[in-house]
Amino acid sequence: MALIVQKFGGSSLASVEHLRRVAKIIAGTKNNGHRVVVVVSAMGGETDRLVNLADEVSAVQQSRELDALLSTGEQVSAALLAMTLQSMEVPARSYLGLQLPLLTDAQHTRARIIELSTGELEKTLEQNIIPVVAGFQGVSSNGDITTLGRGGSDTSAVALAAALKADRCEIHSDVDGVYTADPALCPQARHLRRISYGEMLEMADVGAKILQIRSVELARKFRVPLLIKSSFGGERCTWIVEEEERDMESAVISGIILSHNEAKLSVIRVPDRPGIAYQILSPLAEADINVDMIIQNASIDGFTDFTFTVPKADLSKAKTLVERVIPEIDARELSTDDDIVKVSAVGLGIKNCPGMAARMFQALADEGINIQMISTSDIRLSCVIEAKYGELAVRVLHDTFDLEINNNLNAMK
Ligand code: ASP
Ligand code: MG
Repeated sequence: MALIVQKFGGSSLASVEHLRRVAKIIAGTKNNGHRVVVVVSAMGGETDRLVNLADEVSAVQQSRELDALLSTGEQVSAALLAMTLQSMEVPARSYLGLQLPLLTDAQHTRARIIELSTGELEKTLEQNIIPVVAGFQGVSSNGDITTLGRGGSDTSAVALAAALKADRCEIHSDVDGVYTADPALCPQARHLRRISYGEMLEMADVGAKILQIRSVELARKFRVPLLIKSSFGGERCTWIVEEEERDMESAVISGIILSHNEAKLSVIRVPDRPGIAYQILSPLAEADINVDMIIQNASIDGFTDFTFTVPKADLSKAKTLVERVIPEIDARELSTDDDIVKVSAVGLGIKNCPGMAARMFQALADEGINIQMISTSDIRLSCVIEAKYGELAVRVLHDTFDLEINNNLNAMK
């Protein structure tokens, strides 16, 4: 008998019919002799609806009130799912974050978990009742409701699995796992049965929308095996596990990911002297804007161009902040470009196969695709290119790295 945390995403909970289907999955797991703790997201589209309502009543909202509002989505789905289970004679009880409690810091809309009490849940499990926990929400030490950032119910689920020492954490949504590329962009994409935490982290980081990145970090830290499944049926699933537990025949590159999330800023003709990077980037750090790729050209006559990317949503804020710095650092001008995408190849084999970057660059060059920026980690290669080439780049790289068939044999050639 295993202890399993089952998390259901918004698309799996979009209507009463969806709730019934999910309740059957939970009941089935219980009937197989397992103990289950359920974590829910808000019903599909609900969080966006609440965000829009907040925008309608006020252009700038206090994040405390935003959390009070957004957390209601999960309260509704937890209560409704508990009722649905009860109506099927499956004892269940809903819990809010503050009833556990799931204690967080007070950084509203992106709170971090400090402590998670499991006593109440354990008591409930002992009584053979299924706890249905509202994901995404917690409570700060002064009693205010907090949320863990968009997509945060994944993190709630993994945190619960870790605290309860569950045998696994299942993430049920409308996708049946991780693929070598988005099947909508690349029909040849292949389903992956197992990938490592590290690969999933890189994939989430460069734009794969399967899991909130913090949930993968937590799963790796506490060694919680993660299982990605669809609540809409089908046997396929992907395990996210330790590196050693990946398949023996696992691939050099596991996936190609396209992200539309970046925008580029270039500070043109900056004097090349100590402190410039700090002067340009520190106002962004203070404003909590995440800077991703950074390139500084070699200087000619003591001047250089300084280029970096930020999330698209932060472009106008970043622009205002950098424009302020331009006269202070005697740069010529700032140019921005949001007509870009980032295409990334992720795979554990990159660290041992020195030729992978060259293969990627050549494949893009062969298609006449200009690479504007490059960044790498030991298991990731990313290029910024013009947006219109994004989908082509995914298909070309998928082909170049032979992802349609398992590419391990190919790498050994
Ligand atoms: N309902 C929240 C959101 O849409 C949390 C989640 O889905 O994980 O971001
Ligand atoms: Mg979600």
